[in-house]
Amino acid sequence: MSETKQTALLGLTLQELTSLVEESGQPSYRGRQLFDALYRQRVESGEQISTLPQEFRRSLTEGGFSVGLPKIEKKFLSADGTVRYLIAFADGQSVEAVWMPEGDGGEAGDGSEAGNEIGSATGSAWDRATICVSSQVGCAVDCQFCLTALLGVKRNLTAGEIVGQICAVLNDRSVSPPQDRVNIVFMGMGEPFLNYDNFIKAVRLLVEGVGIPESRMTVSTAGIVPRIHDLGAEPVRPKLAISLNAPNDELRTRLMPINRKWNLETLLAAARDFPLRNREKLTFEYVLMNGVNDSPQNARELAELVRGLRAKVNLIALNPGPGIGFQTPADERVLQFQKVLIAARVPTFVRHPRGRDIYAACGQLKRTVELDAP
Ligand code: SAH
Repeated sequence: MSETKQTALLGLTLQELTSLVEESGQPSYRGRQLFDALYRQRVESGEQISTLPQEFRRSLTEGGFSVGLPKIEKKFLSADGTVRYLIAFADGQSVEAVWMPEGDGGEAGDGSEAGNEIGSATGSAWDRATICVSSQVGCAVDCQFCLTALLGVKRNLTAGEIVGQICAVLNDRSVSPPQDRVNIVFMGMGEPFLNYDNFIKAVRLLVEGVGIPESRMTVSTAGIVPRIHDLGAEPVRPKLAISLNAPNDELRTRLMPINRKWNLETLLAAARDFPLRNREKLTFEYVLMNGVNDSPQNARELAELVRGLRAKVNLIALNPGPGIGFQTPADERVLQFQKVLIAARVPTFVRHPRGRDIYAACGQLKRTVELDAP
C-alpha cells in the first residue's frame, strides 16, 4: 500500500472526470470513457479499462488516482436466498449491504404491488431483486429498537463508497443494469439524510452511470425534516419512505428520541408538503413491537394520522436482537394491525423479514461484524 493519499475516481461525476482528463492533457471524450468504465462496466482495477491508452492509465496512477471497488470481506448466505455482504473501504472501516433476490414485499420499484396485501406479487423474481445499501458507518440516531444504533456513528460514507457497495454486489451477483432490473433501498446502516450530499450524489451516479432508474430507488429516513423538504426539491430523486413506528408523540419519543427534535406534527406536515410525482406514493414504515405499539387502538391512531395522504404503510415485525428490549409480536397480531388499517382504507403491506437467520434483516446489520472484529 502506498503512503501517499489516493483519490478514488469512483464517486466522481462525468463533469469532474472530464475536467480531470482535460487537466492531464487528454481529449475530453476520455472523461466519458472513464465514466462508463467506472459505473457501467464497474471495473475493479485500472488495467481493466481497455478503452484508455496504457500511458494515460499509468499517469492516473502516478497522479495518485485509484480505480477500484470496496472489498467484499465476507458473505453470508441465507436459506431464503438473501446474501449479506460485509464490505470494507480503503481505511478499513466496513458496512453491510444486502442482496434480496425477491425483495421483501414492501419496496417494489414501480408501485405495482399496490392492492396486493401480503406480497404475493406477480412478475419475475428479477423484477423484485433489491439491494439494501448503507449510508454511514454506524448511526447517530439512537432508535431504541435498532441494533445499528448500538454502534454509534463512526463516519459518513462518500458517494463513491455508497455507489461502490452497489457495484461490488452487482459484480458478485453477475447482474447488470439496465438490462437486469434491480431496486435500490437506502435502508442499510446509517441515516441517509444525515449524509445528504453524498447520498444524493450517489443517486445521480447510479442513475446516469450505473443505469438504475430513480423510480426503482427508495430512501428511508428516521424523520430529518429539513432534508425531506430538500429531497422534494431534487430534480432526480428516489421515492421517500418515513420510519414512523409510533402513532403519537409520547410513544414515538420513547422509541425514537429524534422525535423530540422533529415531532409528528412537523414530520407529517413535511410529508403533506412533499411533491409526489404521477402515481407515486409515500411509504410509512412501522416496526411492530409486542405490547408496545401494536394494539388495534394504535392502528386506528395511525390510520387517523396518515388520513388524506397519498401513502401506503409497510409493517415490519420487529427483528429481535441482543441488547434490544423489545419483542416480536405474533403473526396474528401483525395481521390484526394490518386489518384495522385496511378497513380504514390505508393500503398496508407486511414486509417479510429477509435473511433473519444471518442477521441481515432490518435493524440487524453489523451485529456479527462487531463480534468478529479483530
Ligand atoms: N435510518 C433510516 C434507514 C435505516 S433503518 C431510517 O430510520 O429509516 C431502515 C428501517 O429498518 C427503518 O424503517 C427502521 O425503522 C427499521 N428497523 C430498525 N430496526 C429494526 C428492527 N430491529 N426490526 C425491524 N425493523 C427495524
